[in-house]
Amino acid sequence: MNLILFGPPAAGKGTQAKRLVDGRGMVQLSTGDMLRAAVASGSALGKRVEGIMAEGGLVSDDIVIALIEERLTEAENAGGAIFDGFPRTLAQAEALDAMLKGRGSRIDMVIRLKVDDAALTDRIAGRFAESGRPDDNPESFKVRLTAYNDQTAPLLPYYEGQKKLTEVDGMGSIEVVAQAIDRALEPVDR
Ligand code: AMP
Repeated sequence: MNLILFGPPAAGKGTQAKRLVDGRGMVQLSTGDMLRAAVASGSALGKRVEGIMAEGGLVSDDIVIALIEERLTEAENAGGAIFDGFPRTLAQAEALDAMLKGRGSRIDMVIRLKVDDAALTDRIAGRFAESGRPDDNPESFKVRLTAYNDQTAPLLPYYEGQKKLTEVDGMGSIEVVAQAIDRALEPVDR
C-alpha cells in the first residue's frame, strides 16, 4: 500500500508517519528528512538547498523527485511507502503517479490531516524553542504556510478527482489522530 500523508507544516505528518512505520513496517519517505540529512552531511546538494529551506521556500521539483525515485525500490520491498511532505506541487504529484505507474503500482490513499492555521501557529510556537530546525521560527513558518496554501493545497482537487482523498481531523491528541487514521485506512486494509 502506498499512502500520502497530506497537510500543512506542523500538522503532525511526521509523527503519524513514524507510527505507521512502526505498526506496519512500511517505509517513511520524507523529503524534508532527506534534505535535512543532505544539509547535515555538507554535500553539494545540501549546500544548494540549505538557504531555501531555512527561509521556508520550496526546493526545486527535480531535486525532490530524484530523491524519492532513489527510494522507491526499498519502499516496494517493504510493502509500501508513506509519503510525508511529498508531493508538494502538481508537477511532483504527476511525476509520482508516473513513477509508480512505471512500476505497476499506484497511490492507494491520500490522508489529509485537517488543522486550522491559528492552531498551527500555536503548535509551532512550542516547537521553535526546542526543535533546533532553522526553519522553525515565525518568519520562515509564515513562508512555509504560504507555500502550502499557494502550491500544495491545490493538490487536493487533483487527488479528489482520483477519488483517493480522505480527510482526518488533525486537531486532537497524537493518539486520537492515530486512531482516526487507522479507521480511514480500513477500506484499503481489507
Ligand atoms: P518538511 O520537513 O516536510 O516540513 O520540509 C522542510 C523543508 O524542506 C520545506 O520547507 C522545503 O524547503 C523543503 N522540502 C521538503 N519537501 C519538499 C518538497 N516535496 N518540495 C519542495 N521542497 C520540499
